[in-house]
Amino acid sequence: MRAAVLHETGQEKLEVLDDVEAVGFGPGKVRLRIRATGLCHSDVSAMSGILPQPAPFVPGHEGAGEVIDVGDGVSGLSSGDRVLVCWLPACGACPSCKRGQTQLCLAGFMNAGTPNFKRPGGDVFGFAGTGTFTEEVVVGAGCAVPIPDDVPFEIAALIGCGVTTGLGAAINTAEVEAGSSVAVIGCGGVGISTIQGARVQGAAQIVAVDPVAPRREAALRFGATEAVAPEGLADAKQRVTGGEGFDYVFEVVGKSATARTAYEHTRRGGTLCVVGAGATDDHFQVNMFELFFDEKRILPSMYGGGDVLRSYERAIALWRAGRIDLESMITHRVRLEEVNDALDQMRTGESLRTCIEL
Ligand SMILES: [Zn+2]
Ligand SMILES: [Zn+2]
Repeated sequence: MRAAVLHETGQEKLEVLDDVEAVGFGPGKVRLRIRATGLCHSDVSAMSGILPQPAPFVPGHEGAGEVIDVGDGVSGLSSGDRVLVCWLPACGACPSCKRGQTQLCLAGFMNAGTPNFKRPGGDVFGFAGTGTFTEEVVVGAGCAVPIPDDVPFEIAALIGCGVTTGLGAAINTAEVEAGSSVAVIGCGGVGISTIQGARVQGAAQIVAVDPVAPRREAALRFGATEAVAPEGLADAKQRVTGGEGFDYVFEVVGKSATARTAYEHTRRGGTLCVVGAGATDDHFQVNMFELFFDEKRILPSMYGGGDVLRSYERAIALWRAGRIDLESMITHRVRLEEVNDALDQMRTGESLRTCIEL
């Protein structure tokens, strides 16, 4: 079957091969036929080595498709079921799961060192234990979450990562209050979802910050009340908050420099919510005086910062009610053979989300 493979960490292009086999099927596992997958920034970060991931690997962790085979001992799933791929399945038994913080469950990562694919040349891993730039993949049953019939595969794929991450940051983690002022730094798919989450929560002002003009224009369509380039943020803070700083600033880039900017534009007593996934050697610094005296809350948000399955359901409910727009987030559609075009569209900031149809 076909899959897009990164041969070595640091390479910029994927190779679409037709000699890849999905491996690992057995008890507790399901085999999926992927129908749609989004390209998330984390895929690019894994390719460049910013996020740890053994190579060679099949990128992609934001996918949806159909169950084609169910292993022994799997309940609640049968072949033909439409599902989205959850890259961080909850075990239901660990302390994090019992607290309802299933986004912190580490059980799924225990399999991350096990190859999901093989080729005549050897083993191939799947990114984050999944790997969705492929026609078929075998995952643990907990990674396959059934979706209602009215949710198209491409919408379900987005809910599998970017939408859940962005909406959850605003709703679960920051708990944005009605009437508040918000700035969102970084307006790709996750940032746009954060903006939509802040709007759902009733934020009065939402300032979108991004160096790429088409992303700023998109942000306005999704609920930002104004959009500025990074150089314009200080001025926006002055105009919107009288210089005090925003009630909430979301960092959706994953770099210490933008996190520091976000911290400085948060008002005293306000909230800096860190959504971007960054590198292990990139350190965010705050001095002990400002940390104490300014009482800014620094809240990291991982995969939406709440129960993942509940977050999926809420995203579907909001989408069905027309309260969030997910269709318009898909700005580009490509076939698997054009996956390198999708990478270029993400690197230049031209796309919000590129959906790969399989
Ligand atoms: Zn768990
Ligand atoms: Zn992602």
